[in-house]
Amino acid sequence: MNIVIFGAPGSGKGTQSEKLIQKYGLYHISTGDILRKEIQTGSELGKIADSYISKGQLLPDSLIIEILDKLFETTPETRQGVILDGFPRTIPQAQALESLFLKRGMKLTAVIGLEVDEPELIDRMIKRGQISHRSDDNLETIKKRLDVYHLQTTPLKEFYLKNGKYKAIQGTGSVDSIFETISKALDSIHRD
Ligand code: AMP
Repeated sequence: MNIVIFGAPGSGKGTQSEKLIQKYGLYHISTGDILRKEIQTGSELGKIADSYISKGQLLPDSLIIEILDKLFETTPETRQGVILDGFPRTIPQAQALESLFLKRGMKLTAVIGLEVDEPELIDRMIKRGQISHRSDDNLETIKKRLDVYHLQTTPLKEFYLKNGKYKAIQGTGSVDSIFETISKALDSIHRD
């Protein structure tokens, strides 16, 4: 099973990923987490990443695609199935993912789209910022990230609706009830 968990910043991708990993034994790939680790270690990549993340902008496609390609190359655990969290975020990234999977004989099972309205997203990220101290969980950067999401990432919904992979999931309610809806959607795909 290879899943993309998709949705606006604050839609619960990370939280639901944790539960999906436990249930389905998938390898978790969070591009945001990878970049934040690079920032923590102070690497060259971390310095570049920080200059985009702190402004709420996306890293260039070529750079993030290269990071992902290298990860698949060097991580045999990815063959047990993956959950992609925070990637793809643009049409070129989605196209790159297709060839990345094709090259390795992997297939995309589904795109789980967590749908949450904007006031709730802002509220959640502000609350998360009080605990996470993420440089991008402040009101100004949150608004920028939502603009970037609408402009660059939402076209992916249409992309995955067209190829029949997109499964819309209402991302509000309790964590467990959202997870149950996702599980049902995935189990029905698996049975087909
Ligand atoms: P996230 O934790 O997924 O919300 O990502 C935090 C930040 O990391 C984003 O706002 C981007 O600056 C950067 N980032 C993460 N994933 C990607 C990606 N697929 N493409 C470009 N930038 C990314």
